[in-house]
Amino acid sequence: MSEYNRDQWHGLTAIRDALGQMTEEEVEALRASLSPYLEFRRGLAGFHARYFHDYCRRACYETGLSACCGFESIITFFADQLITRLLVTKAEMDLLVQVLKRPNTTGRCVFLGAQGCRWRLPPISCAMFYCEQAKASVFADAPEAAAIFEELRLLEKRFTHPDQPVLFDDLECHFRRKGLQTPQMYYHFSPGLLRLKAKGGILDDSLRIRK
Ligand code: SF4
Repeated sequence: MSEYNRDQWHGLTAIRDALGQMTEEEVEALRASLSPYLEFRRGLAGFHARYFHDYCRRACYETGLSACCGFESIITFFADQLITRLLVTKAEMDLLVQVLKRPNTTGRCVFLGAQGCRWRLPPISCAMFYCEQAKASVFADAPEAAAIFEELRLLEKRFTHPDQPVLFDDLECHFRRKGLQTPQMYYHFSPGLLRLKAKGGILDDSLRIRK
């Protein structure tokens, strides 16, 4: 198992086990806290369907290029993994974990399957990514899409940019307080994110992961 696959396996199984020890009420409260984020993701999916879907299908999917899924080590946050676990059945989550046990000889993202991404809700860094060629082509044909995308980028920051309390950090904090530590808890060990939290006055030093 590669280091990346091992880290992903560690994160996903730790979340599965931690949720397994929580009461149904606690899990439901976590699910309820996702509503604004899921609404944002529905808006983002609608934007993609309206402006980028056809272009990406023609340029990448039909040519077999799949350029944006062409990296083996895509960044995922703890919150990406937790949110997915909260949205899927245990069987679906087990499938996501199983794929990590196979050697990845594709040179592409380990989560890319024959039908596309295996995540029910792809990680935010994937969902917000469009290559320069795609943006140039789509924005030339539909100039209003550039402004809508910028609005979506600002909205995304409200969930992920920790210069103020944000969902992605809050979810990590919740599980750090329970003693959980996984390689994807970047809001607790990434120097850049820690600096932003310190600047915003929301750094709880006792929850930091020292690597
Ligand atoms: S996680 Fe999904 S969307 Fe992201 S690179 Fe992998 S296959 Fe593509």
